Order: sequence, then C-alpha cells, then structure tokens
Amino acid sequence: MNCYVHSDREAVGVCVSCGKPICSECKVLIKDKYYCNSCVNKIATIPSDRNESSANTSGQGTIAVIPQEIRGWNWGAFLLSWIWGLGNSVWIALLALIPYVGLIMAIVLGVKGNEWAWQNKRWDSIEHFKRTQSAWAKWGVIVFVASIIVGFIIGISSAI
Ligand SMILES: [Zn+2]
Ligand SMILES: [Zn+2]
Repeated sequence: MNCYVHSDREAVGVCVSCGKPICSECKVLIKDKYYCNSCVNKIATIPSDRNESSANTSGQGTIAVIPQEIRGWNWGAFLLSWIWGLGNSVWIALLALIPYVGLIMAIVLGVKGNEWAWQNKRWDSIEHFKRTQSAWAKWGVIVFVASIIVGFIIGISSAI
C-alpha cells in the first residue's frame, strides 16, 4: 500500500480521519493519532473560524464581551477625546467639550476608550479594531506635539 499523496512511497499508516494511506512525510501526529495533511488543514480551519465570529461581539452595546487583546490604555481617545468620540461612535466623549470636565473625561476615555468603542461600533475583527485605534493614537500624538509647538511659538513671539 502506497501513500495517497506520494504514489511512489510506502505508506506507514492510515489517517484516522479519512482512512487514506499516508507515508512518513505526510503523517501528522495529534494527540497520539495520525492524520494526513489535508485532514489537519480541515480540522485546523474550522475552530479558528468559529472563534473569530464568537469573539467579535463589537457593536452589541453593553452586552458585548470585550476581547482580552483590546483591553488597555487608549492613547487616541485620551489625546483626541471628543474628536475620537465622533469617529468611534462614543458620544459620551462629547462631555470632554465642557471646561474642567475635559481633562477628567480625557483620562476616563484613555481607560475606557477601547471598551466603549468596541461596544458602540461594529468592527470587522479584533485586528481591524486594533489597526484603527493605533491610527487614532498616531494622529493623537501628532496633534498633541503640533499643539505644543504652536504654543511654544506663540509663547516666544509674545515674549518678543
Ligand atoms: Zn485524512
Ligand atoms: Zn506522502
């Protein structure tokens, strides 16, 4: 009996899933059982698809489960506060427009930003969410640095 992939090679066993003969190169050992490569691919792809859809609870409001990967400080929300809120459907961020409340709100947004954005808006995937938030963080830093530079220039020109 020869391998069903390599017809010139002697089979060393059969795949426990499809029952086809497989050679030593084709066999894959999973929990003490041998599988052929195509069955391994089938087994490997099914659970990951399922994980993807069940993990993506974005846009479902407060019942949405926050994935572990996106927990943490959100620089974009902290630095851009209400502007970030508009872009991420987090309307509570508009409270940052109120004088004095603004700074507190920015800190709250830094802490809760990822959670709120995940709950309020539908994202394609965790990956998509992280990519978008890192773009916001980048713009946040750019705006922050630019405002310091502008403030510095105004400070110097008024001193002269
Ligand atoms: Zn197989
Ligand atoms: Zn083979």
